[in-house]
Amino acid sequence: MKTEKKMKRLFRGLAALFLCGTLLTGCAVPGGTGSTGSKEQHYTGAHLCMGTVFSADLTSSQEDPITTLTEMGNALEQTISYRIDTSEIAAINASAGDPEGYPVSEELAETLEKALEISEKSSGAFDPTLGALTTLWKLDEGAADPEHYNLPAREEIESARNLCGYQKVRLEEGRIYLPAGMRLDLGAIGKGIYLNRAKLLFEGPYTRGIISAGGSILTLGQKGEPPESAPWNIGITNPLDPDGLCGMIEVRGGMCISTSGDYERYVERDGVRYHHILDPATGYPVSSPYGSVTILCVNGLLSDALSTACYVMAATDPERAIELAHSYEAQILLIDREGNTTGDLKLLKLP
Ligand code: ADP
Ligand code: MG
Repeated sequence: MKTEKKMKRLFRGLAALFLCGTLLTGCAVPGGTGSTGSKEQHYTGAHLCMGTVFSADLTSSQEDPITTLTEMGNALEQTISYRIDTSEIAAINASAGDPEGYPVSEELAETLEKALEISEKSSGAFDPTLGALTTLWKLDEGAADPEHYNLPAREEIESARNLCGYQKVRLEEGRIYLPAGMRLDLGAIGKGIYLNRAKLLFEGPYTRGIISAGGSILTLGQKGEPPESAPWNIGITNPLDPDGLCGMIEVRGGMCISTSGDYERYVERDGVRYHHILDPATGYPVSSPYGSVTILCVNGLLSDALSTACYVMAATDPERAIELAHSYEAQILLIDREGNTTGDLKLLKLP
């Protein structure tokens, strides 16, 4: 991705996230004494990971949380990115078609099981096996350099679509079996997995603040110190004008918020927007009356997978998208092209 584009996304990400206060990169400001006995400090930092901006604004008595998060994010990317040749996902993809399958680590097996369950429950709207399609569309590269982007041909899309399909994956006794040509792509849940790990590392009395990974956010503790603590205000990007916000949601600590929309990475051709969320049923980017879908729940993998799944489903059946979110005890907010909202997650006015 071009640096200019990355910087634009960095600033947009940070503006959307930090409604209150400014973000300084990689600095710590001394504060009071934390409950661990060590000094509580204010930490902020941002780095590029999984092709997007990860950032954090934390008050913590744990040592150097920013470095811990950066290292954890990088290590996770090294495991789950199909783009990294040495990753576990790349090895699984390379084994596609092998009747012996491939041994999968316990942690990744658990993640894949959950991902396949969400595929099933969303009738394939979310599908982690779309690698053949996503690499054909190359919409990340296209969005970075739209002038030189060539749309794939219909026949190519059809052939790639035949290599996808969560029902064709077998995950048994620690081994995964993919049919020949299938490629896993965990792009829709990578950030959520990261937030779950961050939650495990930092949830508790010693850290409060916000951790952001692209379109997904984790809240920790309460804003401010008692008795003035308050819920967090999380800005929601305006899908009609993604450089700004259209409102905010109020969120307590320990929650994960993910937004999927068609405004993040796209190329336009003849008035059609080709963006990075694909409809597995057609092989084409989703064409939707909704600009974005936001999910709020306690689990990052779920919020991330559901925001993608519900974005796809809402295009044809918003009621089913809402039902799916509720079946996972998640709240949902849909924003349409006129800025109207639907769902039980309330969009509040900006202060
Ligand atoms: P973002 O990555 O911008 O937060 P999403 O979480 O919605 O957005 O994930 C989009 C990414 O997931 C795409 O870049 C692609 O790699 C992959 N993807 C696209 N469509 C689907 C889908 N229907 N199901 C699962 N993964 C998808
Ligand atoms: Mg997602």
